[in-house]
Amino acid sequence: MNCVEYIENFLSAHADGELSPADLLDAEQHLRQCLGCRAKLDDERALKSLLREHIEMRAMPDAMRRQLLEALDRAAAEEETQSAGHPAAHQVRRLLGRPVLWTGLALAAALAIVFVSTRRFLPHRPPVEASAPTRDADFDVAIAAFDRFQREFEPNMPSDSPAVLSAAYARARMPGFIWNFSASGFNLAGGRLDRLPDGRKVTYTFYRGARNSILCTRFKAGNASAPAGQAEALNGHIFYRYRGYSLCYTRMPDGGFVCILASRLPLDRMVKAVKVALR
Ligand SMILES: [Zn+2]
Repeated sequence: MNCVEYIENFLSAHADGELSPADLLDAEQHLRQCLGCRAKLDDERALKSLLREHIEMRAMPDAMRRQLLEALDRAAAEEETQSAGHPAAHQVRRLLGRPVLWTGLALAAALAIVFVSTRRFLPHRPPVEASAPTRDADFDVAIAAFDRFQREFEPNMPSDSPAVLSAAYARARMPGFIWNFSASGFNLAGGRLDRLPDGRKVTYTFYRGARNSILCTRFKAGNASAPAGQAEALNGHIFYRYRGYSLCYTRMPDGGFVCILASRLPLDRMVKAVKVALR
């Protein structure tokens, strides 16, 4: 079986769990040696479960529908430059053609999936982002940790669930808030409590997606105000493009802690992920 055969004839039924035993064997054999199709299957499953779980009987506003259709057209145009197009965009479009009613959340989630799905197959483009004008020591802590943990992350705090990790942080007198990026495709990988070289306690909470990761770094940062050079701000969350990373800086309300989210996501997707998580 090759990729085109798999995608056209098997992918959708595979994601639905509807392949015959013989077909399933064939499909699994292909996936064992094809990373691309395995990623497509993950996307397909994620999309389908989102659609199943989040669609409620509420009308989608016209403006949103128009926005989504435009996004899908862009995605489709990008797909045409690829050898094997991703079916997610077509699938959403097909669903939109039916009398299905959408919530804002389902729509945002579906959009995020479409963007994720199409972007992962695009050729890598070098970042053309401007960096924040100054170096920032706190930011450097966050991105060094991000690089380290993207290679390998080993939790050292109880991380069975967000609630368990949150309680463990609280017992260590560290902020307990755990981001929920699951609607944007990032799952909690776990948490660490460490010390910075100067002895300050620091927590690292790591979230993994199919292609990218997000690290949340928290420590006490005296009374410094937000670094200059912000690209965008959203209810006290301040976003930066910094040395090829996207950062979100938040001064936490209590205890003088800062929370720095770091990722290699494009900044607009980072902003979107934070927006969705705060909803
Ligand atoms: Zn394949």
